[in-house]
Amino acid sequence: GANPLRDELAELRVPEERLRYVSAKKFAELPLSRATLGGLARGKWARMTEIQRAAIPHALAGRDVLGAAKTGSGKTLAFLVPVVEKLFREKWSRLDGVGALVVSPTRELALQIFEVLRVLGAQHDLAAGLVIGGKDKGEEGQRIARMNILVCTPGRLLQHLDETAGFECNGLQVLVLDEADRILDLGFKATLLAILDALPRTRQTLLFSATQTRDVRALASLSLKQPQYIGVHEHS
Ligand code: ADP
Ligand code: MG
Repeated sequence: GANPLRDELAELRVPEERLRYVSAKKFAELPLSRATLGGLARGKWARMTEIQRAAIPHALAGRDVLGAAKTGSGKTLAFLVPVVEKLFREKWSRLDGVGALVVSPTRELALQIFEVLRVLGAQHDLAAGLVIGGKDKGEEGQRIARMNILVCTPGRLLQHLDETAGFECNGLQVLVLDEADRILDLGFKATLLAILDALPRTRQTLLFSATQTRDVRALASLSLKQPQYIGVHEHS
């Protein structure tokens, strides 16, 4: 063919993207927007953790990811960096509605993700919201229809998908299922299935979990398309 390197990679079945960034150790070595690099600098996140090094290049290339890494390994940025970059690359604006959903098992974890997103995304022109209940649902429903990135607990998200007029995620670009094992352990399996049913199928999905259980694999096969499997077990 016209590109011997590409042909060789195809033969070796090594994804080109992976080869290109396989040596990247710092966020600054990745092809990221200035706004994201600015947010990372503000958060003092310079060197990537192992799961970030392994997952982010695949996610930036648009692939679905099934990532397993223990608590404290840096999974939050492993999905938030690809989320904000995807919307940046799509020239997502405040008028475009919901472009990304992050589903988290508990309010506390959702709040932590939201705090990281606030720092990471501060220089992007995107509106982010928390959907975790505990507030007036009507008021929350009016607010979230105008948001671009929502960090949600499963029950509250499904409630809005079912009941809030004007809240639709038809343009959804990226779905993140964080701590999928815990979501399932907490009994949200049916809720998750109903959420998946209500969302468009053409989207990128990033599924993270601390452990790989049978339930997680079943959820992965329902929600992911030809995912990259990434397991990080060593110290990061
Ligand atoms: P996990 O979701 O895997 O449990 P977190 O995303 O919550 O892990 O990150 C755990 C801790 O590591 C947090 O305090 C976070 O700020 C920090 N952290 C994550 N990524 C980096 C990084 N690249 N550089 C420095 N600290 C990081
Ligand atoms: Mg986490």
